[in-house]
Order: sequence, then C-alpha cells, then structure tokens
Amino acid sequence: MRYIDEFQDPALARRLLDDIRAAVTRPWALMEVCGGQTHTIIRHGIDQLLPPEVELIHGPGCPVCVTPLEVIDKALEIASRPGVVFCSFGDMLRVPGTGRDLFQVRGAGGDVRVVYSPLDALRIARENPDREVVFFGIGFETTAPPNAMAVHQARRLGIGNFSLLVSHVRVPPAIEAVMQSPDCRVQAFLAAGHVCSVMGTAEYPALADRFGVPIVVTGFEPLDILEGVRRTVRQLERGEHTVDNAYPRAVRPEGNPAARAMLDDVFEVTDRAWRGIGVIPSSGWRLSERYRAYDAEHRFSVTGIDTREPAACRSGEVLQGKLKPHECEAFGTACTPRTPFGATMVSSEGACAAYYLYRRLETAPPAAPFEEAPVG
Ligand code: SF4
Repeated sequence: MRYIDEFQDPALARRLLDDIRAAVTRPWALMEVCGGQTHTIIRHGIDQLLPPEVELIHGPGCPVCVTPLEVIDKALEIASRPGVVFCSFGDMLRVPGTGRDLFQVRGAGGDVRVVYSPLDALRIARENPDREVVFFGIGFETTAPPNAMAVHQARRLGIGNFSLLVSHVRVPPAIEAVMQSPDCRVQAFLAAGHVCSVMGTAEYPALADRFGVPIVVTGFEPLDILEGVRRTVRQLERGEHTVDNAYPRAVRPEGNPAARAMLDDVFEVTDRAWRGIGVIPSSGWRLSERYRAYDAEHRFSVTGIDTREPAACRSGEVLQGKLKPHECEAFGTACTPRTPFGATMVSSEGACAAYYLYRRLETAPPAAPFEEAPVG
C-alpha cells in the first residue's frame, strides 16, 4: 500500500475484524499507549466494531496531558515576564494551569508565540538578541530529538538568549508503572509506532517478559490499529508474550540512530512527574550537565509555585485507563473544550477531547467500517 486512504479500506478492515472474531475465545483487555491511537480508535469507532471480548483501554500517551501542572505554571510565570518571548506548539496554549492558561497570558500582554518547530524559536532568538526566547519542550521520544537539536544548535552557534523549558517523558517506564498499579487490568499493549521509529524496540522485550504481556508496535491508521489488535489477540490466545513489530514501514529494530545519538548528547534520564499520575522513576529527560545553561528552569529560577488541580477533574484516572472519559461526572457538562478542567479535554491527543469531539455519547455504534461520526 502506498497511500494513506488505503490504510482506511473498509473491505480490508472487515477481513481483519473477521480474523479477530475468529481468533478470540475469551475476554482480553488491551491498552493502546498513544493518544493519537486513541483518537483513531474513537473517530472510526474501532472499539465498537471489535468483538465484545476485546476491550481497548486508553493509555497515558498524550504528551500535553501528562505535562505536570507545576511545569505548566512555570511556563505561565516565565511567559509573563517582560523581555521574554515564549514559544510553544499551539496545543499547549489552552492547557489549564492553576487559574489561567497561555492564551490568557498572551491576552494580558505576554509575548506568547505559536511555532511549528523548536528551530523556529531558535531563529526568533537569533533575530532578537535583546530578548530571552524560551521554547516549551514537552512530549515523548518523538518530539525530544528536534528539541535536542535546537539546544545543540544554540550551543554550537553561540546563541545565548535561547533556552528550553523541558518536560520530556519516556514510554517504557510508563508501561512499567501501568503494570505495577495494584488494580491494573491491562493484559497487552499496542505500543506507539512513532516512538519506536525513534527509539527502536530494544527496550520492550524485558517488559514483555517481566509482566507476561504481548507488546505489538502499531501505527495510527485504522488498519494499523486493527492489525495490531489482530496480532495481539493471536498472542494472548496462544499464551505468548513477545514484542511484535506491526509497523515495519516506519519502525526498524534499531530505531533512528542519528536521533538517538542526539538525545544521548543533549539529555539525561531523570525521574519525572506525570500530571494526574505522579512521579515515575527514570521516566523523563532533562538537559545534561553540558547543556544545563540552556535550561529555562535554571535560567529563570521560578520558585514559590502553588499548584492547584480542579477537584472535579479525574484525568489521572483517565490517563491510567481506570476511567473512560464519559464516566467522569464533569464530562460534556461543566468540562468541555471551551471550559476545560484538565489537559485531556483540550489536547489533540487527549482521550476526553476524543470522546467529546466524536460525540461518543450521542452516536450509535457504526454499522460498518468506517462510518464517520459527525464532527462539530
Ligand atoms: S472530562 Fe474534564 S474533568 Fe473529567 S477527566 Fe476529562 S478533563 Fe478532567
């Protein structure tokens, strides 16, 4: 197949669904790690097309959603300071911090700019040597390499007025944390293909062995998801637990060596807090000693942050797969994309946003692959 729409082919989807139905003999709970996969699943009604024995549990892989409130509040504080140009991808601007968001900081006069690459922020720093330019570097192994590249370039070019507010997270420790949770129901994982396209698959066999779970590397189109489910169910029914790459068009076992080398040069592994979940050991990256001068947290020494999560928001349970978004009392009533309580309602990869966007509570299950739910 060469074109994206071929990965949405209804006839092929029916065949994969038939294979899954034929293979399944008892209930299984699979977690899709990535929020992008969650959106594909909800948008196309894949969870409703699967046989009832196969449950898809939404995982913590939404980078915006897991960025800790304390870091959001630090971003708000730094962005409010005179002389600062605060650059971010657009999906961070609506994420609620304690009492406000980056849009409100911009409305109050802060110089908050949406950029499409950290290198855009670096260019702004070069063009404005009298301003401090900060890029909000969040996300998983996918967004970390370009952020590392920006810092590397800043150091190489001697651009001293550029810094990174870092909150990077890593998938394998999150899988470990999910499996160690006392009420964990997850029996297998659909791993995030884009993460593995950078990092490869070498970190996963130890997890599959330790927890006895199949881990199938999966893409983001409907047929990718269905093929991932098919391979996972096959392993579960056979009592196997191996790492299987169902996304070979993008993922090689060794990942992307150049990107990994850049990560190793610029970052070092650290414990990281995940919003709504708590600290997961060794689950993040921070700038290594060599690049510490480019760390916005050090440069701006933001202290005295008093964080407050809305009491009604249950996004921590949503992110751990313990609660479906529509089971939250505030879903769609007090909490909407216009009045979000949590990041999961505004992020383009957030599970609450997916349920709201595709009207999960208002539409009947699709009659056939892939009848679109109305959007809007
Ligand atoms: S629906 Fe809103 S309040 Fe409920 S968990 Fe999601 S973001 Fe939080």
